[in-house]
Amino acid sequence: MQGEEMYQLAVRLFPICRSITGDGVRKTLSVLKEFIAIDIVEVPSGTKVLDWEIPDEWNIREAWIKKSNGEKIVDFKNLNLHILNYSEPVQKRINLKELKEHLYTLPDYPDLVPYRTSYYNRQWGFCISHKQFENLDENDYQVLIDSDLKPGSLTYGEYLIPGKTKEEVLFSCHICHPSLCNDNLSGIVLAVNLASELQKLEPHYTYRFLFIPGTIGSITWLSRNEDKVKNIKHGLVLSLLGDSSPFHYKRSRRGNTDIDLIVEYLLKDEQSAKILDFSPYGYDERQFCSPGFNLPVGCLTRTPFGEFPEYHTSADNLDFINSDNLNESLALLFKVISVIEGNKKWINTNPKGEPQLGKRGLYNSIGGQIQQRDYQMALLWILNLSDGNHSLLDIAKKSGIDFEILTQATNKLLKAGLLREEK
Ligand code: ZN
Repeated sequence: MQGEEMYQLAVRLFPICRSITGDGVRKTLSVLKEFIAIDIVEVPSGTKVLDWEIPDEWNIREAWIKKSNGEKIVDFKNLNLHILNYSEPVQKRINLKELKEHLYTLPDYPDLVPYRTSYYNRQWGFCISHKQFENLDENDYQVLIDSDLKPGSLTYGEYLIPGKTKEEVLFSCHICHPSLCNDNLSGIVLAVNLASELQKLEPHYTYRFLFIPGTIGSITWLSRNEDKVKNIKHGLVLSLLGDSSPFHYKRSRRGNTDIDLIVEYLLKDEQSAKILDFSPYGYDERQFCSPGFNLPVGCLTRTPFGEFPEYHTSADNLDFINSDNLNESLALLFKVISVIEGNKKWINTNPKGEPQLGKRGLYNSIGGQIQQRDYQMALLWILNLSDGNHSLLDIAKKSGIDFEILTQATNKLLKAGLLREEK
């Protein structure tokens, strides 16, 4: 799937009203199932998950505000951000003063509609532009929210690609936001694409993809899978990957795990890319990196969490992301995977003196002048540093040679019997 197809998938998913539970999540996962055979897991309301409890399920059919003359001034059908996500049902006539107590706006961005939620505190409300708010007149308003909040379940999706080893790479994205694109349809379409491409290969690692509601979803998954957590050797939370800003990588809590080193290595040549230290605020890395788990999981975004005016507003729409940006993010993720897969420690089987490469046909076996020079240098660097103490990533950093070329050179040296894997 290329950028345009990822973008078109975002277009399909955009209108669905998602939340942390409910049919919007199920509908979203059923669309994703057209691309990968996701397992859909339902966890009943009331289930204890770590320190939390699965809430009642929320579904909504209709919501609007009408004036006394019957004119609908706000309609959930036009934009699902208009409803305070998880609003309890309501149907009544109220005056302007009471209505205003249930309205949310963004005075600093008077044209935008905010995205607001109230998952754990029962209330009802509408989100509108501040411009509209300021033009409301005294009136006999009629409000309707046809929703229900009752025992049901929390739904999440999981997709596993078995590798040669049980050791796992985790990709996680949140699927609880309604019509918002960068946060996080971008993460969803990239994860689906990565999974559908990876399943065609025979990866060394086992790859696990989670499509979960934010916070409660990762807490639920961790609570149900404590036995599997130890297998996670690398992980990334994917979000905010469709806008045009430079990449930002937020380190895992441990700060020096392989995934931290790998992403930092791959971003080192991108001048405007930024590496951020871990902080306990943001996406689901908060849960994966809570001290009792402390997993090697970082978070990859373009503009970081909360640092763009479109964030959590009606401006995070289909114009805010594009297929080129999605493609660029995809290319980086493929590079991350290729370094994860290839980053092994090797042992030079002939460490006394340089082995004679010419007689083994190892020179002149790759095309292109610059590549040729790098390739020959790669052979020498790999042979010299493959003493069991240096990973291929260490060699890439020391030599400055592209990881792909080092991987090709490694394969040639393996074929010639000059390397063996460190056990
Ligand atoms: Zn968000």
